[in-house]
Amino acid sequence: MIETARRKAMIERLRAAGITSNAVLAAMETVPRHHFVPPGLEFQAYDEKALPIGFEQTISHPYTVAVMSQALDVQKGQRILEIGTGSGYQAAVLCEMGAQVFTVEKVPALAKFAADKLSAFKYHYVTRTGDGTMGWQHYAPFDSIIVTAGAPVVPEALLQQLKEHGKLIIPVGKREEQVLTLYLKEKEGIKKMELENLKFVPLQGREGW
Ligand code: SAH
Repeated sequence: MIETARRKAMIERLRAAGITSNAVLAAMETVPRHHFVPPGLEFQAYDEKALPIGFEQTISHPYTVAVMSQALDVQKGQRILEIGTGSGYQAAVLCEMGAQVFTVEKVPALAKFAADKLSAFKYHYVTRTGDGTMGWQHYAPFDSIIVTAGAPVVPEALLQQLKEHGKLIIPVGKREEQVLTLYLKEKEGIKKMELENLKFVPLQGREGW
């Protein structure tokens, strides 16, 4: 099948770009990314670019999904909160890696699109429509939190909702460009690591733009 060949080629490009986690590469080789893009864009689904999904939002680049998933070092059974469900693709990759995914999306139509796809593939996930910048206290604490939109500041509620040794990955910075930043919640306090500069759609809402 042509999609399988395209997906394999995407995996080789991710390897060449420095993605080393076999767990991430295996999950991305399994999840059919072309089912998570709007009709008519399937042909471009495996290209190294973000694609429009409506409502001025995008499905993230394959590289962005890979680098964020790798930074979280996902273990089976972990509880992961995602802010910005979008197409549902990032959530599907985390589910494929064995995580229990809780995901929040502010645009109702996108939340529905993603939920339909994730259910069709029989992934276990919980989703909510609304502003995710305050996290999801009901299901806290989480092993990891992933924010897939660019934030002006790190929402304090997200750090609070992490377990000890938990990880938060979030792009922080200006509207046009952000630094992908990893926060580790340790006993001694919060450790911060800046990974690389990337460009995301803006995080909106109470703690967003
Ligand atoms: N993870 C997605 C990326 C989608 S782009 C994917 O794999 O396709 C980022 C998404 O964040 C958009 O769908 C946007 O609507 C959503 N978003 C922006 N601000 C938000 C907020 N405060 N709460 C929840 N979702 C938000």
